[in-house]
Amino acid sequence: MGELHKLLALAIALVMVSQCNGFLQQNPFSLLWPSEPAVSEPSLHFSTLDPDKHPINLYQYTNTTVIRIKYDTQDQLVQYLKAIPKDYGIWSKSASAKTIDLQLSTVDYLKLLAKFDDMDYQILVEDLAQTVFETFPENHQETINTEENSEFKYKATEEVIRETKANVFSELFFKDYRPLETIEAWLDIIQQSFPGVVKVEEIGKTFEGRPYNIVHVSDHSVDDHSEKKTIVINGGIHAREWISVSSVCYQIYSMLNVYMTQPEILQELDFIFVPLSNPDGYEYTWSTDRLWRKNRQTTILPRCYGIDIDHSYDFHWTKSSDWPCGEEYSGEHPYEAVEAQIWEDYLNKTNAHHEIYGYIDLHSYSEEILFPFAYSCSSEPRDEENLIELAYGISKAIRLQSGKFYNVLPACQDKDSDLLPDLGSGTSLDFMYHNKAFWAYQLKLRDTGNHGFLLPPKFIEPVGAEIFAGIQYFIKFITEDD
Ligand SMILES: [Zn+2]
Repeated sequence: MGELHKLLALAIALVMVSQCNGFLQQNPFSLLWPSEPAVSEPSLHFSTLDPDKHPINLYQYTNTTVIRIKYDTQDQLVQYLKAIPKDYGIWSKSASAKTIDLQLSTVDYLKLLAKFDDMDYQILVEDLAQTVFETFPENHQETINTEENSEFKYKATEEVIRETKANVFSELFFKDYRPLETIEAWLDIIQQSFPGVVKVEEIGKTFEGRPYNIVHVSDHSVDDHSEKKTIVINGGIHAREWISVSSVCYQIYSMLNVYMTQPEILQELDFIFVPLSNPDGYEYTWSTDRLWRKNRQTTILPRCYGIDIDHSYDFHWTKSSDWPCGEEYSGEHPYEAVEAQIWEDYLNKTNAHHEIYGYIDLHSYSEEILFPFAYSCSSEPRDEENLIELAYGISKAIRLQSGKFYNVLPACQDKDSDLLPDLGSGTSLDFMYHNKAFWAYQLKLRDTGNHGFLLPPKFIEPVGAEIFAGIQYFIKFITEDD
């Protein structure tokens, strides 16, 4: 019993700490240009180290830069970019601010500058290889030597498991990003710690044969869940958006902390958490390419891998204009992405017992709350006024927690760009909203471009906490809704 008291005291202390609000002032221009320069600790340049000491092959990112271009008055610039889609990768774009963040080689960057000498732009990441190196987590890798090459394998080392077991209810787990195996080990320990409440359920196998797991938090002693409102919180659909994976784990942790003091919360609600909705892609970002976005299945072109799972759902699906090697590739038909098909099958089976009330899909980056639809701005969602009201409520809850201002806008506006028109089709947001969930949002987490996908781990807890504040508001709103 002493142990339980200690845990409860710890949980209460953590809840108290998490309720201390920040009073950060929001720079009104930060949505357009990042307000603070990307400051990093002075560290060794990766090129001075033995490549065996590199977490992944960093030479793939050398002579590569990420820039933000403002393109509103630059029709020619837009046309030029449209003509060379294979020469850059899109990190983010803002249709409202008319900016686009591009990853491109130094040579292409200089070409662009030579062609458009009045281009309004800003460098976000000057030396991509070094930034990947500086933001890559330490102490998780083990070198596996195979006959062909030596490669790193990120796994739950004995030490990490021991640490996790000792600190399952602490925030230590959130001090750094965690590789797939460690997250799975953590979930396993959480499941053992909350028998009858937490169930990790394998609902399918990915293209590379990994389990596709969901975390079902519910009062499992009750068979009939039809009276309950189920909330789905999803992350990691885009592999490089690590903050979305850590944030779903943080929501599990926070919800269980609430459950420990208010077990009645599960009388009304069921939760389905999916921290890793793209396991193969996530693993690949740890082992091979930190900036990989899609899943890892084969396509119609040899040596072009991966389908964007978030373009694979069968709601206003249209084939993307991107080629199979491109980051936005939708596949050749709906549900070609294995993970989208798994999720669809699972929901068809589970819908009989669950009424899905809320769907929240976490992505990064740009600090936005997007509501349906993504595929078109000319189609109005069935309950637009209330969707917007709730989105502003979530945004306010986030602001009261951390001072961060999450912009609210329709997803079509966020996706819609003069650059590529087909980007908003087949999203899980639209699919879930139209077919399964009463309320549905996509949240783009921090930041606004200072670090982009390479958000340092010190932001894991503040982002997790601000999103939990938003989720708590969401729950209050939908449970008082009747
Ligand atoms: Zn995303």
